[in-house]
Amino acid sequence: MKHNFGAGPGILPHEVLKQAAEAVVDFNGTGLSLLEISHRSPEFEAVLNEAVSLVKELFSVPEGYSVLFLQGGASTQFALAPYNLLPEGGKAAYLETGVWANKALKEAKFFGDVEIVATSKESNFTYIPKDYTVPADAAYFHITSNNTIYGTQLHQFPKSPIPVVCDMSSDIFSRTVNVADFGLIYAGAQKNMGPAGVTLVIVKDDLLGKTGRKIPAMFNYQVQIEGGSMYNTPPCFAIYVSMLTLKWLKAKGGVPAIELENNAKAKVLYDAIDSNPLFKAVAAPEDRSHMNVCFVAENPEHEKPFLKLCDEKGIVGLKGHRSVGGFRASIYNALPIESVNVLIEAMNEFAEKNK
Ligand SMILES: *Cc1c(COP(=O)(O)O)cnc(C)c1O
Repeated sequence: MKHNFGAGPGILPHEVLKQAAEAVVDFNGTGLSLLEISHRSPEFEAVLNEAVSLVKELFSVPEGYSVLFLQGGASTQFALAPYNLLPEGGKAAYLETGVWANKALKEAKFFGDVEIVATSKESNFTYIPKDYTVPADAAYFHITSNNTIYGTQLHQFPKSPIPVVCDMSSDIFSRTVNVADFGLIYAGAQKNMGPAGVTLVIVKDDLLGKTGRKIPAMFNYQVQIEGGSMYNTPPCFAIYVSMLTLKWLKAKGGVPAIELENNAKAKVLYDAIDSNPLFKAVAAPEDRSHMNVCFVAENPEHEKPFLKLCDEKGIVGLKGHRSVGGFRASIYNALPIESVNVLIEAMNEFAEKNK
């Protein structure tokens, strides 16, 4: 077995993969593949219903919110959030904490004015800006809870006089959040909750229908809510695998339990980096992500041989994003602490060899 530190699509629990593989051949003893049954069949409707209730249960989603499973990835939500929430002639506020946040605000410009309340662009997004005021006259405030590429994370969500829209693609279900503090949460599944092909949306119902603009059906949250995520054929298999992953998470004790594990994994890894003379963490210490741990070699010439050593130990997906360089260890929910320990051993062994 490999130690999969890839940033996305990311690691899934092994038992989930086994169950998913079975369902492709014979789904729950029906004699049919999950891939060839109607999305309107009672069997699949049960899958979708269970996925929705697991999201509600694991995240304690309050009354007045809808849970949707849509297609198009988080990148489509960059456009759908303003399409559905930003009134004609209105303004939206954005916190620019990386490439994904920047892509989100660019899409919003198609629908209205955008105010960037703060940015950490000048430092290549190594920290989360904290000194800013959220304008009360904007329709919403958009944030990215975890910046996958730079390894920074909002450990405290901002106080905001306006609804908060949050891209949680790379840390959804990794820690407890108070859903009532948000107007809209969205996440591409393929980082921390399932395979590629489905996007989770949690939206506060009473924010909808206020833009004064006509919205085509597929892009309209209200239409998707009324259709129960089945206005058209949903991504059945991706929803099924996400449902299995959420079930796995529930069996582990849910979000509070995984949060403790995630904190422990992050702590041992950052401690190992901080105490190793050959490596250096990239993000500002107070903003370090518990999902994507970005670090570099003090000596750039050590990069290749270290990756080679990792390869020999079955460590994969460790190469950093091209805009940051170095290494990125993505330690998502499904990555066991044993894999983190193998990485730490590799770092120590490398330091020993290169004294
Ligand atoms: C990966 C990622 C995205 C893009 O997701 P797609 O589903 O590929 O569109 C957006 N935001 C964040 C924070 C991500 O990590």
